[in-house]
Amino acid sequence: MADPRVIGVDLGGTKILTGVVHRDGTVEHRRETPTPTESQDALLAGLDAAVEELVEDGIVGLGFGIPSRLDQKTGRVEGSVNIPLEGLDFRARMQERFSLPVGIENDANAATYGEFHSGAGRDVQSMVMLTLGTGCGGGVVIDGKLYRGWAEFGHMVIEYDGVPCQGSCTGRGHLEGYVTGTAATKLAQEEFGPAADAHRLIRLADERDDAARRILGEMGGKLGAGIGSLVNIFDLPAAGCGWHARSSGPQPA
Ligand SMILES: [Zn+2]
Repeated sequence: MADPRVIGVDLGGTKILTGVVHRDGTVEHRRETPTPTESQDALLAGLDAAVEELVEDGIVGLGFGIPSRLDQKTGRVEGSVNIPLEGLDFRARMQERFSLPVGIENDANAATYGEFHSGAGRDVQSMVMLTLGTGCGGGVVIDGKLYRGWAEFGHMVIEYDGVPCQGSCTGRGHLEGYVTGTAATKLAQEEFGPAADAHRLIRLADERDDAARRILGEMGGKLGAGIGSLVNIFDLPAAGCGWHARSSGPQPA
């Protein structure tokens, strides 16, 4: 078959990104649409519309990166923190809807394998990746193989009894509560009022506003603490990670 292509779907808490992906990793026809979060039905309708727009001759499969806990054996989505997707045979649902083979993967795992295959990790055999967006996800490749177990780095505790976590997570002091776009918006509103958000925080910091720079500095420190722990746990060379010098070894108390 001449140049078979797949449709890749990155389902985020804020937006759905789609594109037509060639075997060599090139992406064409990139599209972006807001994620409907009112209900599971609305979310599925949004996904259907996003995929339909790109279905054409030569498309041989669909791949979904989903911010959810999922079971690879059954193709079932068990639950999600930031979107209304729970208890659904997602792979079967999409196969039936589009009559194409469907692959599903936790979004952070998919991003990690993408970087391993053709991005920042293409020259290494083991790597850890953090994805920062609405939430904070993570993935691990060890000796060339994607780790399929529970690797929710966003929910590791970096501050005992700290701020409440996001979405449906009931924990406190988790990395996700400090380093995401959602966290940035919350901190911006506390400092600058209800109209502020993460974008404004960045803009103010660029304009050398002291409070904005302090908030971002603290977020960076928290993120560094999380990355430092991961480097210590996985014994990584930290290639491409600017935190190496400060976080490569055990920290003094
Ligand atoms: Zn959490």
